[in-house]
Amino acid sequence: MAKKALVTGVTGQDGAYLSQFLLEKGYEVYGLARRSASADTVLERLRWLGVLDQITVVEGDITDLSSLIRICRKYQPDEVYNLAAQSFVTTSWEQPFLTGQVTALGVNNVLEAVRLELPEGRFYQASSSEMFGLIQNAVQSERTPFYPRSPYAAAKLYGHWITVNYRESFGMHASSGILFNHESPLRGIEFVTRKVTDAVARIKLGRSKTIDLGNMDAKRDWGHARDYVRAMWMMLQQEVPDDYVIATGTTTTVREMCRIAFEHVGLKAEDHVRVNPDLFRPAEVEILLGDPSKAKQAFGWEPTISLEEMISEMVDADLERHRRAML
Ligand code: NDP
Ligand code: GDP
Repeated sequence: MAKKALVTGVTGQDGAYLSQFLLEKGYEVYGLARRSASADTVLERLRWLGVLDQITVVEGDITDLSSLIRICRKYQPDEVYNLAAQSFVTTSWEQPFLTGQVTALGVNNVLEAVRLELPEGRFYQASSSEMFGLIQNAVQSERTPFYPRSPYAAAKLYGHWITVNYRESFGMHASSGILFNHESPLRGIEFVTRKVTDAVARIKLGRSKTIDLGNMDAKRDWGHARDYVRAMWMMLQQEVPDDYVIATGTTTTVREMCRIAFEHVGLKAEDHVRVNPDLFRPAEVEILLGDPSKAKQAFGWEPTISLEEMISEMVDADLERHRRAML
C-alpha cells in the first residue's frame, strides 16, 4: 500500500517541492491549505511544478486544532510534515502576535492532532537557522546555543522545543530540521534572493532600472529547496527521531549574491542597486553558516546544487515569467 503524507503549508515553496518529491516516491499526498478568497492563485506553485492534480488539497488551518484532528482522523497519514508558518522575518515585527499564533502555537496544534489521532505517525517540524540569530559559534550545528533576533525566530524556537518536548514526553517520532535559507524559482518574492532575481529580469527586459535593498553585508548560507525537501523526508525515514542541521557549509553576502544574479545577464549590480535604509531591520542576523555533518553521517545527505546554479535558474525563470507577461 502507498504511504500517505500530510503536508501543511503545501501552497508555499517547500510544500510544492516536497509534494513533488513525495509523489515521485509513490506517496499519496494530502496538502493542508487554508481557505483563501484567491484560491486559484494560491495554488500556483503546485501548478507550476505540474503536481496540483496529483495531490488532494484539504481545507484547514494550523491555528484551528479541530480541523487538524478531523483531517488526521479521516486520512490517517503515516507522515506529517509541518511546513506552515508566517515565514517572513520582516512581517514578524509588523504582526508579532499572529506570528506567535501560527509559527509557535500552530506547531503545538499539529503535534497534538498527531498525538491524539496517529499514535504511529511520524512528524517533521520546519525549524530554522534564524533561531541561531546573534550567533554563539562561528559555525552553527545542533549543539550551538540559540539566540533569536526577531518575533519569527522566537516563535520558531517555541516550535522547535515543543517538538523536542513531545518526542521526550510521549515517545513520538518527531524530528526537527534546522534548515538554513533555501531558495528556488518558487521562493516568495519578498525574500532577498527572489527579490533580486525578479529585479534582474525586469531590468534586463527594460521594464525597470533599479532595485532598493537593505543590508548588503548580511551573509547567508543559501541552498536549493529541492535539496532541502529531500533532507526532510530522509529525517523521517530514520528509525530514531532526532534534530538535524541542513546547510551547505558556505556563506555569501547579499552583495555577492547580487553580483552573481546581475552578471548572469551581463549586467553590473552596482549600476542598479540602491541601498535604502528603510529596509534595514530593527535587529539583524548578520551572518549564518551551518555545519550539516550530522545529517551527512546519519543518512548521507549532501547538497547537490551550487549557489551560482540556483541563482541562474531563478533569473532564467523570472525572465521567462516576465517575457510571458509581456505577450
Ligand atoms: P512559505 O512562506 O513559502 O510557505 C508558508 C506556508 O504556510 C504557505 O503554504 C502558507 O499558506 C502556509 N500558512 C501560513 N499560515 C498558515 C495557517 N495559519 N494555516 C495553514 N497554513 C498556513 O515558506 P517556505 O516554503 O519557504 O518554508 C516552509 C517552512 O520552512 C516554513 O515553516 C518556514 O518558516 C520554514 N523555513 C524556511 C526556510 C527557507 O529558507 N525557505 C528556512 C528555514 C525554515 P498561504 O499560501 O495560504 O499563505
Ligand atoms: P531571512 O534570512 O529569512 O530573513 O531571509 P531574507 O531573504 O528575507 O533576508 C536575508 C538577508 O538579506 C537579511 O539579512 C536581510 O536583512 C538582507 N536583505 C537586504 N536587503 C533585503 C531586502 O530588500 N529584502 C529582504 N527580504 N532582505 C534583505
